[in-house]
Order: sequence, then C-alpha cells, then structure tokens
Amino acid sequence: MNPELAGHREALRTAAHAQPLGLYLHVPFCLDRCTYCSFTTTRDHSLQTPTIQRLSAEVESWGAALERPAVDTLYLGGGTPSLLTLEELGDLTQAARGAFDLGPLVEATLEANPGTVDLAWLQGARRLGWDRISLGIQALDDTLLARLGRIHGAAQALEALDLAERAGFSRRSADLMVGIPGQSLSKVIHDARRLAETGIEHLSVYLLDLDKACPLRAEIDAGRLALPSEDEVADVFEALQVELPRLGLAPYEISNYAKPGAESIHNTRYWIRRPYLGLGPSAASQLGDLRWIESAVIPAWAEGRGELDWQILDGLEALSEIPLLGLRLHRGLDWADLRHRADAVNLRPICDAWEGKLRGLAKEGLVLWDRDRVALSARGMLMSNGILQMFV
Ligand code: SF4
Repeated sequence: MNPELAGHREALRTAAHAQPLGLYLHVPFCLDRCTYCSFTTTRDHSLQTPTIQRLSAEVESWGAALERPAVDTLYLGGGTPSLLTLEELGDLTQAARGAFDLGPLVEATLEANPGTVDLAWLQGARRLGWDRISLGIQALDDTLLARLGRIHGAAQALEALDLAERAGFSRRSADLMVGIPGQSLSKVIHDARRLAETGIEHLSVYLLDLDKACPLRAEIDAGRLALPSEDEVADVFEALQVELPRLGLAPYEISNYAKPGAESIHNTRYWIRRPYLGLGPSAASQLGDLRWIESAVIPAWAEGRGELDWQILDGLEALSEIPLLGLRLHRGLDWADLRHRADAVNLRPICDAWEGKLRGLAKEGLVLWDRDRVALSARGMLMSNGILQMFV
C-alpha cells in the first residue's frame, strides 16, 4: 500500500469488507502502438518481467493490507494481456487467489489482441480460471485496420474469436470502433452483423478518440485523412441502436450491448459505484470515498517510485457521480434513492435542481421517467455527453 494511503488503511479495509470488490490488473505492453492509442502501454518488453513481478507483489501486498477481502470480478486489461506468457499469467492469477478471497468470483475477464493469441495460450488461460474474453477487433476491414495501426487483419480477428470459442471461452466480447476515417455506415453495419454471426455475447461500440499527439491525429491535421462528420457518426450510432437488438445484442449502457444476462458484471460495477481496486501503471481505484490513480510512468511504477494521484470525494462529488454514471445505463437509476442520499448530506436543493432539468429534457424526449426511475431515451443516449455535463 502506497505511503499516501497508509493513513487511511482502516477506512479502506472497512470499505473493502463491506461488499465484494472488483480487482483490475493493468498489463502495459503491446507489440506495436496503434495510431490512435492513448492508453498506458509500451513496446519496451525489457520492462515486462520487472513490471509483472511487481504487479504480483502489489496484489499480495494489497491483499494483506486489506486483510484478504472478497473479490467477485477480476479483469486483466491493458495494453495487451495476451502478451503475457502462460507462466506469467499463472503467477498473477495465483497471486490474486492467494491474496484475496475469490470464493464469490462470478466473472474473470481477459482482454486480448487478436494478433497475439493461439489455441494453446487460450486453453491455458481457460484452465487458469479465466472465463470471459474481450477481443479488441475494432473493424473487419483490412484497410481500416491498417489505418488504425492494428497488428491483425479482419480474417485473424475472426479466427481469434473462433479459437477462443474452441478453447472454451463461452463468454466472448468484441470491441467495434466508430468514426474511423474512411469508414462508412454500411461497413459498420456489415461488421456488426458479421461479429454477431460468430455468436459473441457482448459488443462494445466506441467512438474513435484521438490523443493530441497520436500519429492518426497528425495525418488528419495534415489533411491526408478526414474524420467523418458529427452527423455521419450520429447516423452510425443511431443505425446500430436499431440493428444490434435485431441481432440479439440489446443495449445496456451507452457503449455496450449484450445478449440477455451477458452484460459485463465487472464494468457495470463502475457505473453503479461498487468498489474496485486497480493495480498496475495508470490503474484507477475507488474504495469508499477514496479514489486514486497509480502513476502512468511504467518504469517508475515497476520500481515502486511512481506518484499516486488521490483524492477523498466530498459529499457533492460522491452524490453527483451516482447520476453521472448511473444514467449511462439503459435501466437508469432510482431517483427516490438519490433524493434520500441527498438528504443525508444536506444536498437536497442540488438534487432537486438536477431533477428539474431532467424533467425539462423529458419534455424533449431525451429522458424517460417511470415513477421514480429515470433513464436516458435512445435519442438521449446519442446526446449523453451534453446531458451528463450537468453533473460534472
Ligand atoms: S492494442 Fe490497445 S493498448 Fe495496445 S496500442 Fe493498440 S489500442 Fe493501445
């Protein structure tokens, strides 16, 4: 446990035992850097061994500091976790099993890049207890994939989904990206249909988000490529809202679609504010009213000298997160419960002001009220960035 947090150990321990945690582990390595990426990841594989050893040590030390709390969801993200050797994956899994009570575990997700998996690795991961896989596919068009700097083509992406199924991953998710230069609406719909045909149970649909310094941004700034217009992007999201449910994938969050009962349990915990512990460079944690992000400087993190960015949420910050995150979910949230929470921290006037705005948006068809349940409509989901600003 970092020295800055050690003074809050008792509060953290209490929060960690109030309900099962989600445990997120960040693996910051990739074979190559995609042209749009802003995640914490490196191609310097000389750092892999020390970083993964430190990650295992961090798992053990946090488990000990929190007195082996229960964990019900595990998530190995990155970066590219499928670059780990099976031995490294086994060590990390074993560390988590030893340091935390995984008795209530309901979901263990691995992120993987289709360009880095083979059947033996997937079978090995499955044997270690990982039961859900999330494949970063992004598109099924070789030209677009090359533009994104992905290390795989469309055929390899589909093959990875097939290999994962053969290895015993009945729970498979894919990422699809919208807003790629040169991507048409018909291409996105084609890709969504093709992915649904593979029998995936979950699809995440993300808008291409360009870091200021990334190579794809430079291509666009130089006029060599053009991003689709806002209207074109909105048309794609609107078309997917219609098409994906027809394919059996119902929306349950702004960016996520799933077969009934196949929603990501780990990711849902972020939107309903259940506690999570994130370990690894740039990983985020929230336990009780404490929130922190670990250093994104990989060598410093691996040597245990990265700086921690942490805060204690005040009453307003904690309250506003409930609608800010809860309205991302299709099922929305219970406003009566929010009113009670607002009363408890003397923030009822603020809660009532939010309610007034949301009731105004309901008249425009952007928000749905059903007694005390409030949710964004399909059109509201398309405009969620603007609507959710009221809680920031
Ligand atoms: S595989 Fe993912 S984390 Fe790695 S460079 Fe590409 S987008 Fe970034």
